[in-house]
Amino acid sequence: MISFTPVGTSRDVGDSAYLIQADGTAVLFDAGVHPRHEGVDSLPNYDAIKDVEVEAILISHCHLDHLGSLPVALRYFPHARVMMTNASATLAPVLLEHTVRVMERIRDEDGIAEYPLYTKTDVEAMSYVFQGFQTDRSFPIYNELAEGGADFQARFYDAGHILGAAGIYLETPSGNIFYTGDTTGHDQEIIPKAEYPEGKVDVLVSECTLGADEMAEHRSRREEKERFATACTAVIERGGSVLIPSFSLGRTQEMLAMAHDMRELGTIPDVEIYTAGFGEVLSQVYDRTASRTNRMAPDLRLRELDIRPLPRDVTRGPHLKRPSIIVTSSGMMAEHTLSFRMAEKMLPYDHHGIFFVGYIDPAMPGHRVMSARRGLIIRMTDAGRAIPVACRIERFHFSAHSNRQQLMSVVEDLKPRWTLLVHGEMEAAEWFQAEIRRRTLPTEVIIPEEQKEILLSTQED
Ligand SMILES: [Zn+2]
Ligand SMILES: [Zn+2]
Repeated sequence: MISFTPVGTSRDVGDSAYLIQADGTAVLFDAGVHPRHEGVDSLPNYDAIKDVEVEAILISHCHLDHLGSLPVALRYFPHARVMMTNASATLAPVLLEHTVRVMERIRDEDGIAEYPLYTKTDVEAMSYVFQGFQTDRSFPIYNELAEGGADFQARFYDAGHILGAAGIYLETPSGNIFYTGDTTGHDQEIIPKAEYPEGKVDVLVSECTLGADEMAEHRSRREEKERFATACTAVIERGGSVLIPSFSLGRTQEMLAMAHDMRELGTIPDVEIYTAGFGEVLSQVYDRTASRTNRMAPDLRLRELDIRPLPRDVTRGPHLKRPSIIVTSSGMMAEHTLSFRMAEKMLPYDHHGIFFVGYIDPAMPGHRVMSARRGLIIRMTDAGRAIPVACRIERFHFSAHSNRQQLMSVVEDLKPRWTLLVHGEMEAAEWFQAEIRRRTLPTEVIIPEEQKEILLSTQED
C-alpha cells in the first residue's frame, strides 16, 4: 500500500508538500510556501501530520513554492534528512536567506507581525544538513526513525526547468513513485530538457501548470524567439528600451543568455543589456555550478557576457536614455520591486516596450500592465496613481514548464498504474483527465484534494 497526502494545496500552483508513506516509512516531497498567500496562511498544514516520523525531505527544486517552508518543516521533523541535487544544495541557503530579508521587509511595510517565519540564524543552522546528490545515480534512504519501517531507494532526474531542478524517483517495497517536480520537456537557452526514469513507475505524480494553456503547445520556441527579436528590434529602432520583468531564479538567467545570443547573432541591434537585483547573485551560482551540471553550452558564463548593472535609482540613467534591454525582477511586478518601479516610469512613453515572458498571476500588478492597451489609463495597484499607457506591451511564451502535449507523452512513456495530477488549476487537471481517457491510456487518473490521504493498493499488498 502506498499512501499519498498533499499537505499543502494541490489544486493550484501553491505550497507544494506531499507526504508519501509506504511499508512503515514516510518521506516528504517538497516543502513550499503558497505564492499568493501571506504569513502562516502560506504554509502547508504540517500540524496535520506532526505525529508522522518523516525520515527524509526531498526537495525537487529551489523555487519557493517547493522550498520556502523547509525551515518550518524541519521544526516539525527535526530528525528528517534533507536531500536534493548538488546544485539545489548550493542554491537553497541563498534563496532561504533572501526570503528572510523579503519577509522582514513585508513585515515592516505591510505590518504582517508573524513575519519572518524563520530567521537567518535558522537557515544557517540547518543548511549544513542539506545533502546534495548527483542526478546520475540512486542512493538509499535508510529507515532510522520509525520502528520496522522499510528502506527506500531514491534517485533525482534532471527536470530542465531551472538550475538544480529534478524529478524524484522513489523505489519502495510497495511500488515505485515518480514525482515530476516542475518539469520542462524542451531545451531552454541554458538548461537542457528533462530526463525521465526508465525503470517501472507505479505512481506518477505530475505537475500540470500549463494544462489549461492551449497556446503553449501551438507556439514553437523558435517562432516565439523570432517574434521576440522582431518586437525588440522595433522598440530599439524607435529609440526606446525594452523591460523584461523576470523571476530572479531561472528566468533572469535564461533571458540574459537569450538576449546576449541574439545581440551576437545580430537578430537584435547591438545595444546594452542591463540587469540588477537578486537575479545577479543567482547568476553567479549558475556560473559556479556550470561545470558540474548539464548545460546547453558548457562554456557559457553569464559574468563573461557584456551585461551592465542598473544604476541604484532605476528610474533614471542611460538605460532609459539610450535604447537598451533590461532584465529585472520581479517577474510579476510585485509592488516596490525594480520591475514595478521601472514600469511606472516607462508606461507613459510610446517609444518604450514592456515584454512579459512568463506566467503572471491575475492578482499581481504585472497582470494589470499585461492586460493594458495603449490609450488606456491604469493603476498598477488599487491605491496606485493613474498612469496613461503609451508604451508597447507584449507577451511571449518562453515557459519553463512542459506544455500539455509534452506532459501527455510522459504519461504514455512511463505507463504508470496511477497518475496523480498536482501543481495546476482544476481546469488544467481536468483537461488532462479528459485527454488521458480520450486516448484510453491504461492509468487511473486522480486529482488529489488538499490534505486528503489517497491509498493506492499495489498488487503485492
Ligand atoms: Zn518551479
Ligand atoms: Zn512550482
